[in-house]
Amino acid sequence: MSLKSKNAVVTGSTSGIGLAYARALAAEGVNVQINGFGKPEDIETERKKIEADFGVKATYSPADMTKPAEIAGMVQQAEKELGSVDILINNAGIQFVSPVDEFPVDKWDQIIAINMSSAFHAMRAAIPGMRARGWGRIISTASAHSLVASPFKSAYVTAKHGLVGLTKTVALEVATHGVTANCISPGYVWTPLVENQIPDTMKARGLTREQVINDVLLDAQPTKQFVTVDQVAAIAVFLCSDAASQITGANISVDGGWTAA
Ligand code: NAD
Repeated sequence: MSLKSKNAVVTGSTSGIGLAYARALAAEGVNVQINGFGKPEDIETERKKIEADFGVKATYSPADMTKPAEIAGMVQQAEKELGSVDILINNAGIQFVSPVDEFPVDKWDQIIAINMSSAFHAMRAAIPGMRARGWGRIISTASAHSLVASPFKSAYVTAKHGLVGLTKTVALEVATHGVTANCISPGYVWTPLVENQIPDTMKARGLTREQVINDVLLDAQPTKQFVTVDQVAAIAVFLCSDAASQITGANISVDGGWTAA
């Protein structure tokens, strides 16, 4: 079955991996609702570019992933403007790096909300429609940090482990309804999120920029290469295909061998 005319919501898709998911799905003929923060004119440029490049409908939701009512509203908006939510990609995420005993409480709450709880709120809103139509794909961007830990990333590691548990649970609940739920777990992907954590890691570990890139970030990645956003997005497209209909409750690594070690 072709994905043409299916409708997708991708959270955190104004940049990085999320934007790559939205564009890769649009390339398959999927209408997409993008979401995330940024300059309104930049977001509008990306939205229009998706429509122009792929001939699909692209809409935008400004929903803040820390706000449950806005997340439910985002799903309702897509159901109204696109017609349904057949594919939900929970991707919004932030990072904060600090020793646990100095970790700001508001940052902890924010990371748990955006990186984990937002997926619960979005699934909760989107699943009834998927179940009623007998088809759905739920994909969440977890991380190598859903499988292993690194120091100074307590909130992120906790949220990503939790996201995998949530996904397994949901996969079991919707298994007989044509709906699958899976995680994709990238290693280090070169995006603004990685770029932005370099200064904090330099400070936390007393290292230079080059040392952070080579000895911290790529130290864990045996291939010594960053994963690309397109490589992550290609897995999501595959998970939406018929060939992947028996893959559910899985956590698929794309991490250059990081978690093999
Ligand atoms: P990014 O910073 O480029 O994108 C994050 C997106 O989330 C942006 O669109 C941003 O606007 C959005 N966002 C942030 N806070 C939000 C909020 N409160 N409400 C709505 N949207 C919000 O980062 P990225 O690297 O593309 O990360 C995407 C996902 O991939 C995250 O969940 C991240 O944890 C995960 N991930 C990234 C890497 C990596 O190396 N980049 C590795 C593993 C997992």
